[in-house]
Amino acid sequence: MTDTTASATPTDTAPTDTTQPTDTAQPAGDSGAPRRRPALSPSRAGDFKQCPLLYRFRAIDRIPEPPTKAQVRGTLVHSVLERLFALPRGDRSPERAHELLAPTWEELSQQSPEWAELFAEDETGPDGHAAGWLDGAGKLLDAYFGLEDPNRLEPEACELHVETELGSGVRLRGYVDRLDVAPTGEIRVVDYKTGAAPRAIGEAKALFQMKFYAVVLWRTRGVVPRQLKLMYLRDGQDLAYTPDEDELARFERTLEAIWSAILAAGRTGDFRPSPSKLCDWCAHQSLCPAFGGTPPEYPGWPEPTGGEESALDRAD
Ligand code: SF4
Repeated sequence: MTDTTASATPTDTAPTDTTQPTDTAQPAGDSGAPRRRPALSPSRAGDFKQCPLLYRFRAIDRIPEPPTKAQVRGTLVHSVLERLFALPRGDRSPERAHELLAPTWEELSQQSPEWAELFAEDETGPDGHAAGWLDGAGKLLDAYFGLEDPNRLEPEACELHVETELGSGVRLRGYVDRLDVAPTGEIRVVDYKTGAAPRAIGEAKALFQMKFYAVVLWRTRGVVPRQLKLMYLRDGQDLAYTPDEDELARFERTLEAIWSAILAAGRTGDFRPSPSKLCDWCAHQSLCPAFGGTPPEYPGWPEPTGGEESALDRAD
């Protein structure tokens, strides 16, 4: 099947008007290149649903969040699994996966030296890497092999950028960890979960993310994915879900409603805190009125990248 949605990692152009949110097409910039339109990603949509103020801090104020060791380890494991699938079938063994860990970490830590600093205090092994931490990543890979044999699979793509525009004009974009397409054309969307948050707390969020991808694939390929599969590598369990067209149509309307609510809040800056158990994982408690803090002055709508997500978002 031809993939019409894959593309290189996007880059953004500078905005002209940062005061008014819009959901209409952007004109060409000074360079003549068309502007990248604002879009909703599963992470940012999930943020708004969880807490509008959290969305504001992440997507509008763009307040940096120090990465956690668990997030960085997740990014490493995702990267190793992507490289594992680049090997020929038959070569995708646990030993090869473990061998890929150190060189993959070398590359990632060169790209993001601040990630390596997280482990500066850790005890190092004979290869000079934080021993316990790489060992933890190896255990996640072992759990992966306990769930499936990658030699029996030939994914169509790993780390696939997907993007579509709904009939209403709402643009959706995100990254799928792995896309399996059967010879019959049936699609399976696979997502690896490596995060430290308890599974019960993350499950609704994960399913929201998977349905988001299912809508994008349905709209770009005209096929409802047969299966959405979440692989929990911390506890070696998986969860498979089969969406249907009616459900995805309803979910599409939910996404449109979320985007409308974001645009409405973006016009006024009225992003309210919504405290929950998930506040325990929020890096912005000191700025949150629910915890006695004061948010910075509202900077206005940051066209055109209100829905962007980072590599760390994709490896929770
Ligand atoms: S601490 Fe909780 S209520 Fe406050 S911004 Fe973070 S998630 Fe929202």
